[in-house]
Amino acid sequence: MKNQIVSLSGGKDSTAMLHMMLERGEAIHSVVFFDTGWEFPAMLSHIDKVEQRIDMPIIHLKPPCSFGYWLHEREVRPRSGPNKGKLRRTGSGWPSPMRRWCTREKTNVLLKYARAIEDSLTCIGYALGEEKRLETQMAKRSPRRYPLIEWGISEAEALSYCYGLGYTWGGLYNHFDRVSCFCCPLQSLRNLRVLRRHFPLLWTRMLNMDSRIENNRGFNHDATVYDLDIRFAREDAQSLKPSRKITRYAEVE
Ligand code: SF4
Repeated sequence: MKNQIVSLSGGKDSTAMLHMMLERGEAIHSVVFFDTGWEFPAMLSHIDKVEQRIDMPIIHLKPPCSFGYWLHEREVRPRSGPNKGKLRRTGSGWPSPMRRWCTREKTNVLLKYARAIEDSLTCIGYALGEEKRLETQMAKRSPRRYPLIEWGISEAEALSYCYGLGYTWGGLYNHFDRVSCFCCPLQSLRNLRVLRRHFPLLWTRMLNMDSRIENNRGFNHDATVYDLDIRFAREDAQSLKPSRKITRYAEVE
């Protein structure tokens, strides 16, 4: 029998997968949670709750160098070309679709953990409808299984199952369809507006992180967090302005 490793992000899908596997009496070798350091506080509380409930330890994996180091401190030096080895910049800046260093770090740490376990099989909480995510590079590098897809469980069903177990995530899913790093630059503008409005302390943290980036190449579509803050504040001010639309009343005969 394979040694099943549950990769728990803490979101609705992986939480549902873990509990459903236990309900079905499946053997689980270990449960691992990759802590990016950029988690919502409510997500970290959720992980603690899951750990108490399943009565087995959740192994917290961390990147060898913190995401803060990557963002602000890592020395970037070209590996080839005329400037090979010369310091180009300090800090990689925010991740982007072309410079997704965060996902690479996460993938490497999870792979290293799985490869250290003999005959391992990593269980990933992709839900029905997410089949297009299956053919990733990581899938080719270590054996994986997708129990929710096997069982035909959709994201909505996973969320409702978790609510049925009493999990609330402090209301995070009232605001977001998916929950990942609070400062993920790949999230939508809608999510970022919600974050600024409902999680002002985290937004302020993002502004601070943003302000410390050397030669900031932008956070989301070239806009820095500071740019977005100004944009959202302007939008808020506009929406508060009284409407100048003239209301026509029907003539009273
Ligand atoms: S959620 Fe965003 S910032 Fe976090 S690891 Fe994934 S891509 Fe990177």
